[in-house]
Amino acid sequence: MATGIVGEFLDLKAETDADVLAMQCGDFYEFFADDAELVADELDLTVSQKSSHGSSYPMAGVPLSELTPYVKALVERGYRVAVADQYETDDGHAREITRVVTPGTLLETADDDARYLAAVVREGDGGGASAAGEASGSYGLALADVTTGRFLVTEAGDESDLRAELYRFDPAEVLPGPRVRNDDRLLGAVREDLSGSVSVFDAEAFAPGRAKHAVREQFGRETADSVGVDSDLALRAAGAVLGYVAETGAGVLASMTRLTAYGDGDHVDVDATTQRNLELTETMRGDGEGSLFETIDHTVTAAGGRLLREWVTRPRRDRAALDRRLDAVEALAAAALARDRLRETLGEAYDLERLAARATSGSAGARELLSVRDTLALVPAMLDAVEGTALADSPVAAVLEGLDRDRARALHGELADALADDPPKAKTQGGLLRKGYDDELDGLIASHEEASEWLDTLAEREKRQYGLSHVTVDRNKTDGYYIQVGKSVADQVPEHYREIKTLKNSKRFVTDELAEREREVLRLEEARGELEYELFEELRERVADDAELLQDVGRVVAEMDALASLATHAAGNDWTRPELTDERRLDVEAGRHPVVERTTDFVPNDLRLDAERGFLIVTGPNMSGKSTYMRQAALIQLLAQAGSFVPARAATVGLVDGIYTRVGALDELAQGRSTFMVEMQELSNILHSASADSLVILDEVGRGTATYDGISIAWAATEYLHNEVRARTLFATHYHELTTLADHLPRVANVHVAVDERDGEVTFLRTVRDGPTNRSYGVHVADLAGVPAPVVSRADEVLDRLREEKAIEARGSRSGGREAGGGGADGAGGGTEQVVFDLSSGSFAGDGDAGPAEADGEGTDPTDGPSRTGGEPTTDGVAASPEAEPLDPETRAVLDELSDVDVAATAPVELLARVQEWQERLDGDR
Ligand code: ADP
Repeated sequence: MATGIVGEFLDLKAETDADVLAMQCGDFYEFFADDAELVADELDLTVSQKSSHGSSYPMAGVPLSELTPYVKALVERGYRVAVADQYETDDGHAREITRVVTPGTLLETADDDARYLAAVVREGDGGGASAAGEASGSYGLALADVTTGRFLVTEAGDESDLRAELYRFDPAEVLPGPRVRNDDRLLGAVREDLSGSVSVFDAEAFAPGRAKHAVREQFGRETADSVGVDSDLALRAAGAVLGYVAETGAGVLASMTRLTAYGDGDHVDVDATTQRNLELTETMRGDGEGSLFETIDHTVTAAGGRLLREWVTRPRRDRAALDRRLDAVEALAAAALARDRLRETLGEAYDLERLAARATSGSAGARELLSVRDTLALVPAMLDAVEGTALADSPVAAVLEGLDRDRARALHGELADALADDPPKAKTQGGLLRKGYDDELDGLIASHEEASEWLDTLAEREKRQYGLSHVTVDRNKTDGYYIQVGKSVADQVPEHYREIKTLKNSKRFVTDELAEREREVLRLEEARGELEYELFEELRERVADDAELLQDVGRVVAEMDALASLATHAAGNDWTRPELTDERRLDVEAGRHPVVERTTDFVPNDLRLDAERGFLIVTGPNMSGKSTYMRQAALIQLLAQAGSFVPARAATVGLVDGIYTRVGALDELAQGRSTFMVEMQELSNILHSASADSLVILDEVGRGTATYDGISIAWAATEYLHNEVRARTLFATHYHELTTLADHLPRVANVHVAVDERDGEVTFLRTVRDGPTNRSYGVHVADLAGVPAPVVSRADEVLDRLREEKAIEARGSRSGGREAGGGGADGAGGGTEQVVFDLSSGSFAGDGDAGPAEADGEGTDPTDGPSRTGGEPTTDGVAASPEAEPLDPETRAVLDELSDVDVAATAPVELLARVQEWQERLDGDR
C-alpha cells in the first residue's frame, strides 16, 4: 500500500470514477502510476520515477498554468479527467477533487460547434416505475450545451424518435438513465450513431422527486411549471443533466437561465437515416463539405452558424413562425447594401453566449470581459444597421424587439469604465483595471508608483551623493532589491551599506532604507494585486449576473446572422420565396438541387404532387438523375420549413409533419450489415411513421432480394402508401413492372427521366417527363461498363423472356469454357435445358419439374407450350434461340388448324370430332 504523496493520489483516485486524475503538488499538477503512463502515451509527456517509501512510481507533471490544454486534449479523446486542487490548512495543506472535466462539460473547446450533454430516461426508469413503462417506449431527453447555457428538454415517443433527436444534436456525452443503461442494444445503436461517449451517472439523479427539485431550483418553480414540461420523463432527464453539471464542478449552472421545452408537433420529423441520406450536415462519405449546411452557410459569427445549422436540422411546422422568418429573409434579400452593412457589423461580434458561460463559470479573464465589452459596443451599430437603413420597419426589425437596450448600454458602460485596454493574461498581477475605477486601488497604485520611482532613481542619487562611479539598483528572487557597485570602487561605499554578496567584478549591498522601501513596494504590489483581483471578480460576477442579457444579445446576433446568411444565399443563387400552404401539395416550377446546382450545369425540373397525384413512380436509366430529382424535392421541402428560400422559379409548399427517405446506401454494405434487413427496417419505419401529411422518398425498394420478392414488396408497399398512409411519395424504381400501377391506383402517376438514344448511344437529358420509361436500362449499363458483347445480347434475350414469363433454356457450359467457346452464342457443345422463372417460389425451375409453369402456361404463342417440345433436354447440342426451336411439321399443321377454327360457326359434334382427330395425329407423332 502506497503512502505519502503517491498514497494520497491513489486515495483520491479511488474516490472518483474519472479515468485520469491530475493532482496539484505546489506549482505542478502531477499524474502518478497508471495515470502517468496514460497521459504520457496520449500526450507525449515525459515520465520520470517517483520513489515513495521504498517503492518507485511513474510520474508525469505539467505546470499549474498549463493544465487546461492537457485536460482539453484528454477530454477530447474521450477521457474523463478529475482535477484535485491543493489548499492551505492550519497544519500545512490538503487536497481535494474540485472538478471532473468530461466530454459534455468541457468549456474550453476548439471549435464553434455546440457541445451538448444529454440525459436519456426511459419510461419505467428509476423510482416508482409504472408497470405500463415496460410496454410503452417513451423517452425523456434533456440536452444542455454547457458552452452556451442552452438547455432543451423533450419527450421522444419511441426509440426511433429518440435516435433522431440524439443524432441531430450529436451530444459529446450521453448519460443514460438506469433502464437505458442496461439496454445494450439501444446503447450500441446510440454509440454507433454518435461520436460522443456514454457516461454512467448516479441513478438517484434520475429519480422523479430529486430531478424535479433540481429543475425548480435551477429555473424557478414558475418557469419549470409553465414552459409546458408536463412530461415527467423530460423533467427527470433535465434533473440528471443539472445534477451532473453540478457534480462535475464546471460551474456553469448559472449560465443555464432558460429551459426550452419542445414537443412532437413543433418540428418536422426527420429521422437519423433521412438526415444522413439528405446529407444535411455531412455527406454520405462523412465530410462537412458538400453538405446542405455547408453549401448555404454564409454566417459570419459562430453563434449564427450554430443557429443556422439548427434550423436546417430541425425544420419547423409552425406556418406563422416560418412566414415571419421568410418575411425577414425576403427583406434582407432585397436590401443588398443594408444587408452587407449589417453583416459587417455582426462580423465583429464575439460569441456572447459562450462568454456568458465563461463568466458564470469563473473562467473568464480580463480579455474575455473585454470581448463582452466590445460586443456590447456593437449594439447601437447593429440597431442602426437595421433601423437606419432600408430594413427599418421591415420584419427584420422585429428581431430586435425585446432586446433590453438600456441594460446592454449600462453593462457596456461599466465594463468600459473598469477594464484596462491591454490587460495581462494573468488575473493576479495587476494591470487589469483602469485608473479612476476605484479610489482605493488608485491610492495603492499611486503609492506603488511613488515607491518604484524612489527605487528607479536611487542609483543616480547614490552616485551623486557618494561619488561612486559604477552603481546600479536591481532586484532578483534571492537577494531582493540591492545596490550593486563595481569592484574597483567597492571600498569607497559609505558605512551604512551592508554587503550581502561578492561577485567576480562587483559587490552587492543593501541599506536599511532600501530594505524598508522594498518591504513597502512588495506590500503595495501584493495589496494592489489582491484588490484588483477582488474588484475584477466582482466585475466578473456582475457580468455573470447579466448572463441572460448576454444570451439575449447573443441570440439576436445569431438570428440576424442566420437570416442574413439565408438572404445572401438566396440573392446570390436566384432562389425564390416558397409559398407555404396547409394544403397537401408540393408544386415546384423549374426546381434545382441546392447542392448539385453549385457544381453542375443543372437542368431544372418541375414537380407536382397534390390531391389527385400524390404518388410518383420515377423511372429512367441508372445515372439519369432519379435520385437527384427526388432529393431535390425533399430538400426544397426541408428548406421551406427551415424558413429559407428555395432553388426554383416558383414553389408552393404544403407543410409536412415529417420527411422520410429510404435510399440504397453503400456504407451499410461496407459495414457488413445485411442490406436487405436494413432496407426492410427502414421501409417498415416509414410505413409506420409517415402520415397523410408526410413526404416520403423511396429510392429503390426490394433490390436486396430475389427479383420477384423485390417486385412484390415494392408493389405492396406502393399500394399501402397510396391507400392507407396517403403520404406524398416519390418512388424511384428499376422495376419497370411497377409502372402499370398507375393504371390501377388513381393517385399514382408515372414520370421518367428522359434520355435521347440514337445509334445505340444514350444521352442523358436530365429532364423529367410524365409517363413511364419504355424500357429498362440495366442491361444497357452493363454494356456501357464493358461487359462482353455476347453476355449483353444474351442478357437482353433473357430479360425479354422473363418479362413475357416464357421459358428460357439454360445453356450448359461448353467444353473448354470461355477460351474454347470464345464467347460465341452459337458455339457447339454442352446442353440446353429449359427453365421457367417461377413466380410463386421466386426461383428458376428446370423443366424436369416445370409444373408451375405448365399450370400457368396459357401462352398463345404455340412455341412456348412447354409440354410438347421441352419434354427432355434437347440433345442435338445446338443452342438455338427459342424462336428457332424446331416443331415437327405435323404438330405445326395441327396447331395451324386449331387456330383457324371458328368455334362459333362450328357445330359441337363437329368440334369434338376434330379434337379427337388432332389428338390422334399428335399421338402418332410421339
Ligand atoms: P440516378 O439516381 O438515376 O442513378 P443520379 O440522380 O445519381 O442518377 O444522377 C446521376 C448524375 O447526374 C449525378 O452526377 C448528378 O449530379 C447528375 N444530375 C442529376 N440530375 C441532374 C440535372 N437535373 N441537371 C444536371 N445534372 C444532373
